[in-house]
Amino acid sequence: MPDQKLGMLIVLSGPSGVGKGTLCNMLIENDESITFSTSVTTRAPRDYEVEGVHYFFITDERYDELLKEDAFVEHATVHGHRYGTLKSQISKAIDSGMNVILDIDPQGARTVMKNCPDCVSIFILPPSYETLRSRLHTRSTDDDAEIEKRLNNARGEIEQMGLYDYAVINDDLQTAFEQLTSILNAEKQRTIRFKPDIQ
Ligand code: 5GP
Repeated sequence: MPDQKLGMLIVLSGPSGVGKGTLCNMLIENDESITFSTSVTTRAPRDYEVEGVHYFFITDERYDELLKEDAFVEHATVHGHRYGTLKSQISKAIDSGMNVILDIDPQGARTVMKNCPDCVSIFILPPSYETLRSRLHTRSTDDDAEIEKRLNNARGEIEQMGLYDYAVINDDLQTAFEQLTSILNAEKQRTIRFKPDIQ
């Protein structure tokens, strides 16, 4: 039977350190209909990061050019670095029936939710602020002052959780993954995702 479905745009967002990236990878590995939208960033690559896979690492000058070309679905400065989701990453995949997932910060998520009302937006919550603090420490990419700044930002971001379609608490990773899978499986069956030309 031919595939009669249109792809969906999935927005996964939440505070820094909540585990969005890990959950995003689990969803992609588990479901071949889901593809990751690789963002651009002006920050330096980390040791393990691969150009074009984790990010497109670009200069500030190139970022300004992309802004001028109106190449972004959304863009934001996050913790002092600039990030953006490219329109070109999304449109081709959605048109071909793929589901595209964005791992983006809450500022960017708000822009996407406004401009793409059919997207599926999911907010990932930590079980507590203490857990979030300890995860940010374990990750050890930031100093104490930066961690406190991120925790303060998290409080404001969590207050805006009501803007999203769904919320998932990332306490036990496997449980959070299963809840996300259930949400996406239900969303795939919504009538708006079906092409009207079934014979
Ligand atoms: P990191 O630099 O640790 O990979 O990501 C820092 C934050 O930037 C994370 O919250 C991540 O979700 C967010 N981020 C990554 N790509 C984008 C993007 O294209 N747009 C926005 N708004 N945020 C992004």
